[in-house]
Amino acid sequence: MILLAVIIASMKEEFLNFIWKHQYFDKKRLETYQGEVLQVLNPGQINVNSGPDFSNARIKLGRTSWAGPTEIHVRSSDWYLHQHHKNPAFDQVVLHVVWVNNANAKTSNGREIPTLELKDRVKTDLLLRHQKLRKGNSRVPCEPQFDRIPDSSFQRMLDQMACQRLKRKSREVVASLDRHNYDWDQVTYLALGKNFGFHLNTAAFETLVSVVPLPIVRKMRSGIVQLEALFFGQAGFLQRVTGDAYYLRLQKEYEFIKKKYSFKPGLMKKEMWKYLRLRPSNFPSLRIAQFVSMMHLEGFRFSDIREAVTAGQFTEKVVKPSSYWDDHYDFGKKWGVGRSTLGLSSRENLVINTVAPLLVAYANYTGQPEFHARAIEMMKEIPPEQNRIVAYWKEKGFGVSSAYYSQALIELNNQYCNLRKCLDCFIGQSLLAGVPKP
Ligand code: SF4
Repeated sequence: MILLAVIIASMKEEFLNFIWKHQYFDKKRLETYQGEVLQVLNPGQINVNSGPDFSNARIKLGRTSWAGPTEIHVRSSDWYLHQHHKNPAFDQVVLHVVWVNNANAKTSNGREIPTLELKDRVKTDLLLRHQKLRKGNSRVPCEPQFDRIPDSSFQRMLDQMACQRLKRKSREVVASLDRHNYDWDQVTYLALGKNFGFHLNTAAFETLVSVVPLPIVRKMRSGIVQLEALFFGQAGFLQRVTGDAYYLRLQKEYEFIKKKYSFKPGLMKKEMWKYLRLRPSNFPSLRIAQFVSMMHLEGFRFSDIREAVTAGQFTEKVVKPSSYWDDHYDFGKKWGVGRSTLGLSSRENLVINTVAPLLVAYANYTGQPEFHARAIEMMKEIPPEQNRIVAYWKEKGFGVSSAYYSQALIELNNQYCNLRKCLDCFIGQSLLAGVPKP
């Protein structure tokens, strides 16, 4: 009883919103605090803009139907605390839904608002379940209830998360398209370049592709040595006085290119590239060489992406840098057993972070949903990523069969679990509703 009293005393408005949205209260002999018989025909939709909490609700008071916004508060006196009685935007409110009615709310024109008090109408079970979720100490607050999660809610939430993540990444593509006059090849080049930074060197790679113009890359595409000189020179790698024969050759080529295209000196410095805790196979020097080889072989236009049907068309391609990198992982540094080609997981990463978002942006831009569906199919073709979030869910017994699901779990973790948005999560909603696991 003490616990229940504490729970009731700590009632939060967001939970009341949830109760109202899902109508989780006893509706028998419903009446307003003012004594009118009340029927809720439709609770309306949550209003994400300024103004009352829900819009377009439909209710019946006695024999009269009303349509309009509803406002939710823990105490009805919050109406005055929030100054709604002075705000005409709240004059149309048809119902004030409160946990406790301790003051009659009136609009700016003096109308008393019908009030529904919920404190004696919500089941104790629901309050206790919410408390359990809210106070969960685990990294994922619903962890103690994992065995109660219905598969359908889990699947529905992951589908939503996978789409939300793709949509968010595609918004970056759209912003880039806006900045580059809807030149899809240019945007593909920039996105791919940025992706080649693989987290640690994202900013440096982003700068590099911004100082190596795509039209010049295209002109020089056929000569791998010249292309390497262009990229390594602009990246700030060719400023040393000494080096091996290949290094000196690139320096010479770059001097010529720099004059020909009137490049400003020193746009990038070698110090901008990070090596900390990287294995040689991830060194930025090798990544630049791999990126160059992709430009050399493919030119990598947006049409390559638009026309690809499967993820395999990207992941099966072997991108091999010039022969210097067969036995070097950096200028002047040889490896015993090395591999200069872009690894499979890196190629899969390019599909997840560059190819799929570009396809989704294209689907939205052209109104062709088949490109969105293709992006999803590609993600389902690729194995799940290995990271601590995926490892956690796997360890707890949830199947993670592809990158589609690993991406969904990353989104769920970052955008919902970490922010404790359990009331907005299908999993949390089914746990609160007490939906039995089938
Ligand atoms: S957001 Fe969803 S998955 Fe995450 S802890 Fe809450 S209920 Fe569980």
